[in-house]
Amino acid sequence: MKKILILTAGFGDGHNAAARSLRDAIELLDDDARTEVIDLFADSYGVFNTFARKTYLGVVQYAPRLWGGIYSLLDKSPLVEKQLGNFTRLQGTLEKILAETQPDCVISTYPVYGHVIRKIYHHHHERPFRLITVVTDSITINSAWFRAPSDLFCVANEASAEVLRKGGVPEKQIRVLGFPVNPVFAEPVAELPAPVGDEPRRVLYIINTGKKKAGKAIDRLLELDHVHLTITAGRDAKLRAELIERTRKQSDRVRVLGWTNQMPELMMSHHLVISKAGGATVQEAIAARCPMIVNQVIPGQEEGNAELIWRCNLGAIGEKNREVAELVEKAFAKRAALWSEWRKNLRAASRPDAALRIAELILSEAGDDTPGRKAVKLFETAPERVMRSAPARNGNSDPAQMLLCDFHIHSNYSDGKLSVPEIVDFYGERGFDCICITDHLADPSRLLGKLSELANCTLGQEQVEEYFTVIERERQRAWRRYKMLVMTGIEFNKDGYTRKTSAHLLGIDLKAPVDPALDIPQIIEKIHEQGALAVASHPHIMKSEWGKNTLYLWENQEKFAPLLDAWEIANRNNIFNDIGLKRLPFIANSDFHKPKHIYSWKTLIHCQKDAEAIKDCIRRNEHVAITLYRDFAGALPNQGRHSFDSPATAHHLQDRLPLHVVNS
Ligand code: ZN
Ligand code: ZN
Repeated sequence: MKKILILTAGFGDGHNAAARSLRDAIELLDDDARTEVIDLFADSYGVFNTFARKTYLGVVQYAPRLWGGIYSLLDKSPLVEKQLGNFTRLQGTLEKILAETQPDCVISTYPVYGHVIRKIYHHHHERPFRLITVVTDSITINSAWFRAPSDLFCVANEASAEVLRKGGVPEKQIRVLGFPVNPVFAEPVAELPAPVGDEPRRVLYIINTGKKKAGKAIDRLLELDHVHLTITAGRDAKLRAELIERTRKQSDRVRVLGWTNQMPELMMSHHLVISKAGGATVQEAIAARCPMIVNQVIPGQEEGNAELIWRCNLGAIGEKNREVAELVEKAFAKRAALWSEWRKNLRAASRPDAALRIAELILSEAGDDTPGRKAVKLFETAPERVMRSAPARNGNSDPAQMLLCDFHIHSNYSDGKLSVPEIVDFYGERGFDCICITDHLADPSRLLGKLSELANCTLGQEQVEEYFTVIERERQRAWRRYKMLVMTGIEFNKDGYTRKTSAHLLGIDLKAPVDPALDIPQIIEKIHEQGALAVASHPHIMKSEWGKNTLYLWENQEKFAPLLDAWEIANRNNIFNDIGLKRLPFIANSDFHKPKHIYSWKTLIHCQKDAEAIKDCIRRNEHVAITLYRDFAGALPNQGRHSFDSPATAHHLQDRLPLHVVNS
């Protein structure tokens, strides 16, 4: 088993993206490798880190010139160089982690780590592991990246390699392998042809920091003929609602998305992307061979990214709204001549399999080749074919065990705080056995309140398909990494004007979307057709920090008890005694929206770790129990967290389950 530690930091957008892509690629190539991604700034500096990150974002947003000044100061000052290795608490934590986990290979995606590692091993003859630095900047590369020693330096392109050579890094330590974008980019897809005549020009507009000017910029773009816009508004629900309203008259050629996990697919299905010059975004556009128009450049770190675009002629830069619209028009004029030139250059620059290539290098540095190791050739083997599929749904002969489950979890596809991959890691690290992600889907005819609430709180109709795709992808990853089952679910919101006319219904382990406009018995029927469970969420009176009570199903239990598979007997901190008294089938869930909601009621099921077996227990009301969950987090930081042991053995069931109510 190869043990690989990837160090990252949540500053800027390139480091975390690179770290996650490398982890995914390593796991695709080697079933046996254990990979940990750690942000030591988040771990050792806690509140300070949140503060530092906010300050960074604040400076970037309001005083980009000032940030440029800070960045170049960091590059030149010898004083700052001394400071770089001087992170006492971080050094202590890293030293402890290295001693505990004894990795074969350490990957740094943030320049500070090289300096800290040099300090830790200052008096040693040699380091007990290989160190690979993956440089996430392009062209304008801060010298902090290479002033500390590293066995190898991976860079995105030849121009970046040149910077390192000039900085004195020996040739044999430099590898030009591309920027580690998500391995999904390496899947072979048909290239989008140039749009001619009346064909739509599909333009992707990513809104990041320049929110104020986004509305006007979009108006300008819509003045152009044949431009079809997909806008991603990120986590800002209010902005999304405003943009839907603003473009309502042209809704046939405008799609406004919120947060999306599907950036690779979006970039590969659009002719142009308009965005600021963020490290990850620029590299993803290049990997997707999607020409880019840069509409904002943060001085310092992003200048290199923008320079890469114009130096290699992969798109253009226009910081004013008018310039951006003119560039789009120019790109598609004369049978898309300019656009075709950009596309041609992108083909030469694109390295969509960079993460897999770097992962191969990491694995070979981490130890000798083992028979379990698979080589991936460029474009010959798509990652999904390398991926192991989730466990067989039947024929499973594993013995029964006590499974810790949570069947009611919201992601940022509706009103939750975490993305689907973040939820999988959050529950996986805690050793859960089965989770179901259940974002809200509202009956469009019953939507109450302002438009912003609509965009804010529920899964958009146009995103339902993406939602299923993303959870399916994560289901496979969760099984590979944590041996945790992930189900797709939906919480159908049927909100009326009173609590007695309001109902929330969970569909658990769905295979396909169900129309939320159907009436409740019809929805239950559709859920059952898919072999999924229909469960009443929070059916009784509860103390809630947010919503109102939803009593319709309980008030009409004669009608619904025969139709439903189970009722929530507990929801987060509330427990509904009446459900128990009536001896109805039950489950208990977090109704998770943010990390602190993990401290709540959960379901325990004693059976094989298999989706069908679990659903069967719930339907039959057998081998089901509930438990009030408290974990180690907060009380004992770092305990068990930085271990390469499998999560299932790292946390013993009895450690995390202080109170059981068993029904068998
Ligand atoms: Zn609900
Ligand atoms: Zn809910």
